[in-house]
Amino acid sequence: MTENLSIKQASDLLKSKHISSKELIQTYLKKIKAGKELNCFNFISEETALLDATKSDERRASNSLKGDFDGIPIGVKDLFCTQGILTTASSKILSNFIPNYESTVTMNCKESGLISLGKLNCDEFAMGSTNKTSYFGPVKNPWRPKDSKIDLVPGGSSGGSAAAVAADLCIASLGTDTGGSIRQPASFTGTVGLKPSYGRVSRWGIVAFASSLDQAGPITKTVDDAAIMLDIISGHDKKDSTSSIKEKENYSKNINSNVKGMKIGFPKEFMSDDLPKSTLKAWEECKDLLKSNGAEIINISLPHTMSALPTYYIIAPAEASSNLARYDGVRYGLREKGNDLIDMYERTRSEGFGDEVKRRILIGTYVLSSGYYDAYYLKAQKVRSLIKDDFNKAFEKVDAILTPSTPSTAFEIANEPNDPVQNYFNDIFTVPVNLAGIPGISLPFANDEKNLPIGLQLITNSFEEQKLLNIAKNIEETVQYQAVPEKWWTQ
Ligand code: GLN
Repeated sequence: MTENLSIKQASDLLKSKHISSKELIQTYLKKIKAGKELNCFNFISEETALLDATKSDERRASNSLKGDFDGIPIGVKDLFCTQGILTTASSKILSNFIPNYESTVTMNCKESGLISLGKLNCDEFAMGSTNKTSYFGPVKNPWRPKDSKIDLVPGGSSGGSAAAVAADLCIASLGTDTGGSIRQPASFTGTVGLKPSYGRVSRWGIVAFASSLDQAGPITKTVDDAAIMLDIISGHDKKDSTSSIKEKENYSKNINSNVKGMKIGFPKEFMSDDLPKSTLKAWEECKDLLKSNGAEIINISLPHTMSALPTYYIIAPAEASSNLARYDGVRYGLREKGNDLIDMYERTRSEGFGDEVKRRILIGTYVLSSGYYDAYYLKAQKVRSLIKDDFNKAFEKVDAILTPSTPSTAFEIANEPNDPVQNYFNDIFTVPVNLAGIPGISLPFANDEKNLPIGLQLITNSFEEQKLLNIAKNIEETVQYQAVPEKWWTQ
């Protein structure tokens, strides 16, 4: 009864009194313990979750529920500040940081009665695509290649959030996406990952990586659940000056899967002979599927696609170097002893940050330094505008764009390339979407010849989340992707 539940199914079980929230939380806490080897959680909120469940059951008994999803367990990426609960960004420098405030997104979840089971592992400060940069060690993808015991990366940076949903250690989870960190791990784990438009969801209280790109979103088992989560977390927030005042829609109520007459763009720049055959096949099949469901397929061009990755790897580190300046041993987390103030700063930051984070700080400081600012940072901002223009022009002709989510399926934890730039290619299909500030969703389409999930990405124009979810639902309904990984970690 409690295997691989969606939010909708769990809410029906609670409503019909087949299960109490406390029983549901206990079941999931057991699953989390059994799944320890996956290393999804940095911190399990056992006591508070059980307490919250008791309260939810009391509300149900007294007809004072906070909403339809009161009492449902979720996991939270360890990048959202949670009041009184450890928030580490998977970094040594914040390994003892307990915020005295709650991020708007997690507050919205609480106010809807969702219950956090704990904080999910991620790449350090959300920098990475493998979850291997975490101070708390890598997360294992619940999927393994057919007939093999090889451990694969779950993707990153929201690797814990994606793996926990795929392994059914929680019903849904929260992630963040700066360059692909929700969609890429969703693609690697056969889950649905939604990055909303920039400004749709408040960034307040989320550990900042690159503020002009960061956006929070859900990782779920179904498109309907993504709509439900977006209903809960989105909306204007006075505390975030970049959050949009645009009215949000009722995504889950208004969702429909009709694509008749819709125009779907097929960008030629995303096509490459280097893509795995199975990915190309999935992409092609999805195109045919949409066509037979009544959509029109239109070939389009996004000419600056190949400039997106270098642009991102200037802008994101630039903003990161500025955001991470606050970790100086004075206000947050770790403090190393030093002979004087500067020495203390240096020791704290040398000891507290991992290699990838240091690399980004160095690159960011360099591209912002006088003499290089115009050549790199300013230039990157100009290219960013061109990328945005490409999408604007495309959306004059099409309703949505369909691409693969990632250039490969999940790869071995042990086989990660040593060259960091090689790693950056993981985000080649997702990064343009962040640079343009538009929404994107990755949804599982099929499994490849190794039985690993292949994700496809849909993109729409700013604030067209409803359309995005509707098309995604059409694909989901037609494909009926129901594969789940074998639960090898429980043996
Ligand atoms: N993998 C990308 C990076 O390392 C994206 C990360 C993210 O979206 N947070 O920057």
